[in-house]
Amino acid sequence: MKRYQATEKSTPGERIARARAERQPIDQPGEIVDGGWFWRRLRNKYAARVERIATNPKRGMLRSNLLLYQAMLEYVEEELQAWEELGDDIPIWSPGAALGYRLGPAMGFHTYPLDSFTDLMTPDEARWSMDYARKRGFPSDICDRIQNIGTLMVSGRLPQISLVTLEFNDCSQGAQANLWAGREVGSKIYTFDVPFEQDMEAVRYVEEQLREMIDIAVKNIPGVKYDRESEERLIEYQRTYREAMHWQRKIAELAAQKPCPISGRDALRMPARQLCWKPSFVEYFKESYEELSERAGTGEGPLTGPERFRVLWTATAPFYTDPFGYLEERGCAVPVYEEGTACATYYVPGEGEQYFGQELENPIQEEAATLLSDHWAGTAERRIWEVTMRCRQLGIDGIVHFEQGGCVTCNGSARVMGERIESELDIPSLYIRGWCQDLEKHDEQAFEAQLGEWLEICTRRKEARRQA
Ligand code: SF4
Repeated sequence: MKRYQATEKSTPGERIARARAERQPIDQPGEIVDGGWFWRRLRNKYAARVERIATNPKRGMLRSNLLLYQAMLEYVEEELQAWEELGDDIPIWSPGAALGYRLGPAMGFHTYPLDSFTDLMTPDEARWSMDYARKRGFPSDICDRIQNIGTLMVSGRLPQISLVTLEFNDCSQGAQANLWAGREVGSKIYTFDVPFEQDMEAVRYVEEQLREMIDIAVKNIPGVKYDRESEERLIEYQRTYREAMHWQRKIAELAAQKPCPISGRDALRMPARQLCWKPSFVEYFKESYEELSERAGTGEGPLTGPERFRVLWTATAPFYTDPFGYLEERGCAVPVYEEGTACATYYVPGEGEQYFGQELENPIQEEAATLLSDHWAGTAERRIWEVTMRCRQLGIDGIVHFEQGGCVTCNGSARVMGERIESELDIPSLYIRGWCQDLEKHDEQAFEAQLGEWLEICTRRKEARRQA
């Protein structure tokens, strides 16, 4: 059996310095390659976008997007400033999908959801990034977002990550990428054992692990603590998150209206998770709700003609093209994306009686419960239940399952879910192969042709039933 070396001869610090010194074709002449690289690029991108939206908004786009992009610009500027002041001494936590966005800032961490960061890459950056990871032996046949997580951590273009936490929960490949990259740059690594069950015993089991992880972080990572003040901040951030969920649920009520007031592009847009503890997160959803409410009142929406069909979109999508616009031009509304706006998590830990029928005892339990209620983690039953409920709630006619190459969720529970919902609610499914960011693999023409053909068949079937 092949034995892998636990350590290399060079230190993590030396590897990061080497990565920063290696100039890649993506860099512009004179561009500085250091831990501020990603932030400087994002700052320029958001500054230009804010300017564009403020002066020349795209037709049909929600005005509240300006608020969102301003919040992102502010966030990026804060992170860049932290890099300029502290360099690699910034305490950074790269968590799995569901954890760390409230607990992290409450403890003094800068929480980096690297999968969300990859969503912010331009097509050129994504191309460069996938090549970078593959040259270092990372597999090319898994989800492209995940390949990009690895690059962001090891290429020296972000500050050094101090803590990586994993849970083999909702995105097992994301956990693998974090593990690979965390070892490479010498981060502290903590793995959670998250049970499939959703009950108080499971909450207490995860709580115990969270307390152990906090203890390890406080002892080993300068600049972080968990004391009374941190706990008060955590309680406040959890309240902010629940408030945002309140507005998302109200958006879901509006999205149920016909004609649909929300565009597929806006339904897909998820404000970056690292903002979820900030008041701007709530303001964005509140303003979106108020704007959509106005639209619903006047019958304004993304469709130019009558609504012939409406689709629920799962579980991810091509990032650089607009399949929603393609559907909308053909009379098909896309009021909801499985994890986006108008699809607020049904269970919001901390809402008392609603959660497991019991009050949670402390804010750490609320974080544990969040980890346990991740939408497509655990068994497929949870995902099926939630998507079935959305289909009923929003009067959905069909489901598009985006089969992202290499994703367990997209290629695993999707078929089980689609078949179940078709047999229970007579809602047809399209299973369509695609890639989020790898434009060499993603064939847009074939993708649209398949979408259009399926839509045509389904729309005719719906019309025939209406007339029967
Ligand atoms: S598409 Fe699948 S593999 Fe890719 S980030 Fe999402 S859950 Fe993970």
